Amino acid sequence: MTFDIDMIRKVYSGMPEKIEKVRKTLGRPLTLTEKILYSHLDKTMQLTSYKRGSDYVDFQPDRVAMQDATAQMALLQFMQAGRPKVAVPSTVHCDHLILADAGAKKDLETAVVKNKEVYDFLSSVSSKYGIGFWKPGAGIIHQVILENYAFPGGMMIGTDSHTPNAGGLGMVAIGVGGADACDVMAGLPWELKFPQLIGVKLTGKLNGWASAKDVILKVAGILTVKGGTDRILEYFGPGAETISATGKGTICNMGAEIGATTSIFSYDGKMGEYLASTGRKELAAEADKIKEQLRGDKEVYENPAKYFDQVIEINLSELEPHVNGPYTPDLAWPISKFAQAIKDNGWPAELEVALIGSCTNSSYEDISRAASIAKFAAEHNLKAKSEYTITPGSEQVRFTVERDGYLQWFDRMGGVILANACGPCIGQWARHTKDPAKKNSVITSFNRNFAKRNDGNPNTHAFVASSEIVTALALAGSLTFNPLTDELVNDKGEKVKLAEPIGIELPSKGFEVKESGYQEPAANGSEVKVIGAPDSQRLQLLAPFAPWEGTDLKGLKLLIKAKGKCTTDHISMAGPWLKFRGHLDNISNNMLIGAINFFNGKTDSVKNQLDGKYDSVPKVQRAYKAAHLGSIVVGDENYGEGSSREHAAMEPRFLGVRVILVKSFARIHETNLKKQGMLALTFANKADYDKVQEDDAIDVAGLTSFKPSVQLAVILNHKDGSRDEIKANHSYNEQQIKWFKAGGALNLIRS
Ligand code: SF4
Repeated sequence: MTFDIDMIRKVYSGMPEKIEKVRKTLGRPLTLTEKILYSHLDKTMQLTSYKRGSDYVDFQPDRVAMQDATAQMALLQFMQAGRPKVAVPSTVHCDHLILADAGAKKDLETAVVKNKEVYDFLSSVSSKYGIGFWKPGAGIIHQVILENYAFPGGMMIGTDSHTPNAGGLGMVAIGVGGADACDVMAGLPWELKFPQLIGVKLTGKLNGWASAKDVILKVAGILTVKGGTDRILEYFGPGAETISATGKGTICNMGAEIGATTSIFSYDGKMGEYLASTGRKELAAEADKIKEQLRGDKEVYENPAKYFDQVIEINLSELEPHVNGPYTPDLAWPISKFAQAIKDNGWPAELEVALIGSCTNSSYEDISRAASIAKFAAEHNLKAKSEYTITPGSEQVRFTVERDGYLQWFDRMGGVILANACGPCIGQWARHTKDPAKKNSVITSFNRNFAKRNDGNPNTHAFVASSEIVTALALAGSLTFNPLTDELVNDKGEKVKLAEPIGIELPSKGFEVKESGYQEPAANGSEVKVIGAPDSQRLQLLAPFAPWEGTDLKGLKLLIKAKGKCTTDHISMAGPWLKFRGHLDNISNNMLIGAINFFNGKTDSVKNQLDGKYDSVPKVQRAYKAAHLGSIVVGDENYGEGSSREHAAMEPRFLGVRVILVKSFARIHETNLKKQGMLALTFANKADYDKVQEDDAIDVAGLTSFKPSVQLAVILNHKDGSRDEIKANHSYNEQQIKWFKAGGALNLIRS
């Protein structure tokens, strides 16, 4: 019903030959990451040695995955491409919009009513354009992908930062913005900075309380939240082969917390077993045929320092369970040191809520390990002293663990089963707390623990650990409890020492599910009508942007000269605005409201040149738009850094800004602007930034002969009648100039 074996066969059929060519060209053995990246090069790219950490390279991914919050704008844009169907297999997963409150059934019913317009839209668009649709309650994107679509040697992009979870099945899987997803679905290549490679050699074998989660908690402590930026982590060594496929998924998933582009493991027996157990024996057989191509070369793993940019070694036999936090996932504490850290730092020791599950730790194995603790507790008259919740990763996992009798143990311990969705992990949590002003502690088996992430409360100290450690601490009701050494006292006043967790990697009777929640796309999409109310405040169909008028730009009003840092957050703020991410007109009311106006040092206060009054940036821009006047935004260094948010490029385009002229751009944002048909220019002489005055009307000349590497002229017409002519650089290539002329990349695809 779901995975596309023909597509995978096609990928595999060309791989051995491609990899051999790369080996010859580079004249050396290859890591697994290189094998996958090179075999997914876009056809326009040359087979050459790309410089790690600096060369930008175009790829052709095999799949696209989208979660419901980010899918809205990705699909609204895709609809503009004029394609009858997506170019690569794609899926949408409804997991981010379900509020955890009263328990799975009730919460799901409430979400279905509250988010009806979003779900109806996503379901109908998916059906129309050949996209697999996973309904609310079906599961969390990354767990569903691992169970159904991930495949060794594949390449996938997903509109969620924990897309790397699929590295647990040997796939290069990378989190991206909606605009990138739209491009790949529309048949365009996808660009990535060729990553540096970190090799993580695992020896020994996990035992006792230590689990796969502790591997990544330890790695996060070593590399910190920035250590993985522009890098891919490749795990290998004899220890790697002892970790289950879902355990590998946990490690890759949480690699997002160290900023890694992605993480990956080589194909092995554990992956084959998982594929067979999840109904993909046929795929396992295909992978077995080319298994040498789905692993790093032997010479690489024998001599990693020669082929990786950095090597880390971890002995799993000696690995201690960890607890990381609070407020950052890289503050790593071995459990033996954690109680003291709590005391030394004055963090609240009382544990108010313990939460297990999420896409990071919600496999059959995770739940069975936590349930073994819960069972032991029930048999020894122990109950949870903290609130305790369980979030299964998918309906398939939930159904199977219920069938196999695990859920009853959580129930007897006092746990609440939440919907198969993100819930508290993304802050969709109606936390039941008497005093939010009180400093308090929670612990989760999720991946992120930044301030306010789970419950929006800055007083909450959130810690991260494995499902079994979280369960043990829930029984103790205290963060100073160490289950490896300490005892608990039960209802009868007896001392009890918890037994070590017992995990079962895969269900002996196989996985089972009654209602998977999957909706197949329509056989004939052209007959499907997209559902969306014209007066909706959350969703708005996009109209194509106008093409370039064919002349130079004259008399552009200066909207704002932004001073200092101007990230995509300053350009398009998140928080309460996120509910409008499917409605470009509404969300455009946050355009640049975080940017500082050079002329008065204030945010969201710029001069309207039409009446000389100061007003909010979106209002002034709407006034220019109503008067059919173009405008220009001037910015400082690294304009548009931060997350790749397509709204930061779409909003100015939508409201009529024509040009962004800055000292320098963050590259992804620069590309996003180009895709939307904007002019993204940089000062040839950075000091010219100082020449821009508040009442300037600005011309851009040279557009009729717009060419790669040829500067454009910018004329600053000052209020006093004087003028400055300055030069602007640009980085448009031939293709990107075509985007500009067509009014945006999607217009070009459609035409
Ligand atoms: S469970 Fe958490 S980390 Fe996973 S996809 Fe949902 S919000 Fe993201």
